[in-house]
Amino acid sequence: LRRAISQLEFSVMYQPQFELATGTLVGCEALLRWQRRDGSMVAPSEFIPMAERSGLIIPLGHFVLAESCRAWVRWQSLDQRALKLSVNVSAVQLSQSDFVENLERVLGDTAMDPRCLCLEVTESVAMKDPEAVIDRFRAIRALGVELAIDDFGTGHSSLAYLKQLECHYIKIDRCFVSGATDDAGCQQIIASVVEMAASYQMQTIAEGVETPEQLQHLRRVGCDLAQGYLLGHPVPERRFIAECLMPTAETRADSLSAML
Ligand code: C2E
Ligand code: CA
Ligand code: CA
Repeated sequence: LRRAISQLEFSVMYQPQFELATGTLVGCEALLRWQRRDGSMVAPSEFIPMAERSGLIIPLGHFVLAESCRAWVRWQSLDQRALKLSVNVSAVQLSQSDFVENLERVLGDTAMDPRCLCLEVTESVAMKDPEAVIDRFRAIRALGVELAIDDFGTGHSSLAYLKQLECHYIKIDRCFVSGATDDAGCQQIIASVVEMAASYQMQTIAEGVETPEQLQHLRRVGCDLAQGYLLGHPVPERRFIAECLMPTAETRADSLSAML
């Protein structure tokens, strides 16, 4: 992992996120990729835990944030819409005493608009040290940066705690989305999360949408945003620009509208 960092084997891919009511592109999630010199890929589920244990998630996390903010700034000349950029942040990063300071520095250095940046923190991380996380979130919000609770429903946060976190988004985990059309339990969970989010003035993002039926169900129950292989795979910046940001990419929104 250490050698891979020094040999620049890491890159960032971008997965589009769409608004369900209109079918328009509203943002993307930055996802880290490790491609070895021989061309083989190492899955994030394999190397992220390793990077967290070794502390190497600090330079890696910095790389993803800085790289994706620079990409976002490049897109501004191509596309006037204020796209939202979501970046994953791990527990180890969040607990660094200089986390907010570094975030502010990256925002300044890259000229990223803080209001267009969203940090995704998993529900399990948010649960680790509740008081410390509430404080950290407050400092992040003070910069104008938004927050999302990732993999929601897989941890055990209480409703009271969730409200205190004052996040902008709740991401409905893929495991519930996959049961959106045929599992009554998943349907109930999705509907409850959407309802709760609305009452807390939060928006919901469904992840891992793979079928038109899932998409239609999510839209029917009032889920706000969605991402998934059906709508677009994570792709390198060049492809994200060509397929999502160029004028011809409008056809994608049209086909999404057709599915809805
Ligand atoms: P995540 O944050 O929940 O990211 C969503 C994962 O679901 C991504 O996997 C994405 O490629 C995948 N995905 C998207 N749409 C679909 C779909 O329709 N079907 C299926 N089956 N999968 C879909 P990926 O890129 O392998 O990342 C896995 C996890 O690794 C992420 O889960 C996140 O927790 C972590 N990760 C990725 N990049 C970063 C990063 O830059 N920093 C940190 N701290 N963690 C990261
Ligand atoms: Ca995520
Ligand atoms: Ca997730």
